[in-house]
Amino acid sequence: MIKFLDLKKVNAQYNEEFKKQFEAFLNSGSYILGEEVAAFEHEFGSYCGAKFCIGVSSGLDALQLILEAYKIMEKLHEGDEIIVPANTYIASVLSISNSGLKPVLVEPDLETYNINPQEVLRVITPKTKAILGVHLYGSLYDVEMLEKICRECNLLLIEDAAQAHGAVSEDGRKAGNLSNAAAFSFYPTKNLGALGDAGAVTTNDKELADLLFKLRNYGRRTTYEYELKGYNCRLDELQAAFLRIKLKYLNRDNLKRREIAKFYNDNINNNSLVLPKIGSSNSHVYHQFVVRHQQRNKLKEYLYRNGVETLIHYPISIYKQQAYNEFKGLEFPITERLLNEILSLPINPKLEKEELNRIINSINSF
Ligand SMILES: *Cc1c(COP(=O)(O)O)cnc(C)c1O
Repeated sequence: MIKFLDLKKVNAQYNEEFKKQFEAFLNSGSYILGEEVAAFEHEFGSYCGAKFCIGVSSGLDALQLILEAYKIMEKLHEGDEIIVPANTYIASVLSISNSGLKPVLVEPDLETYNINPQEVLRVITPKTKAILGVHLYGSLYDVEMLEKICRECNLLLIEDAAQAHGAVSEDGRKAGNLSNAAAFSFYPTKNLGALGDAGAVTTNDKELADLLFKLRNYGRRTTYEYELKGYNCRLDELQAAFLRIKLKYLNRDNLKRREIAKFYNDNINNNSLVLPKIGSSNSHVYHQFVVRHQQRNKLKEYLYRNGVETLIHYPISIYKQQAYNEFKGLEFPITERLLNEILSLPINPKLEKEELNRIINSINSF
């Protein structure tokens, strides 16, 4: 069976470096907010081209802390509306509702799967205060249009960059430097994945960064002085040490993902599939390689019988989840159509040519 993602195999190439780093960590005697966190924040911030990077405990916490900080700065208030794509991962939407704000779901574009700027324009009201754009599957949202809308309507633009580490826009800026503040997840399956939970915020806003450094650490100003009602959302020292190793290889790994995506596109010749469009730019880092088929379930079963494991990102829409019964009755036909047709093929830097050929042959014979 070709697994959808074999994390043990993906990480095995770094085992020697991981062990050395763990040894150093053990000997350091410093386990919380030590040198590794500070060094990773510096390195990842520079990688993204952002002035500040704040290491936190997960992608969801990164998103929530950004929204909390904007509330403290009085740029957001209880009940404000935040626009977010309907087909994103649930964490994007949770961050909004958990912060006492109102998520306003918007349809994606049928071609790019990312938030449709025309649909955004239709739902803006006087209560709209921000857009939470998501670079879904590793592909940047329409940067130019969302920036324009936010500029003209005086909205905050926040990036959910949990799937897009290293993606580059047309004008050369990286994910994490395309908005007022960006949230990253380093969940193990992400393009830059830790060996546990981890996340970060990047921003060029000093006031926001100062608040975030405090909020993630109990709202502390000095050891025994608490300026804000904060949280314990620190980036773990050991995860930071592991992430520093993997960050060195992120560009190489993203390049490999793009090569695999191109190989799929060049060799899948089953015309009943819709393949993602492969541009020459680096605006897509293929966190997922998502195809579409009208008989998706049959295709998924067929591939499984032929030894290929695939996944669906995501099989149940957020507005149909029990957790969001306030959305009951809302209809998003494009989101619904997509979730019935999408299928994620295996894509990771350690997939071998032989495995790729087997996957492609199975798809072509369907
Ligand atoms: C993974 C992910 C998150 C959440 O990250 P965690 O570290 O698991 O909390 C948020 N948004 C998107 C789009 C994601 O893919």
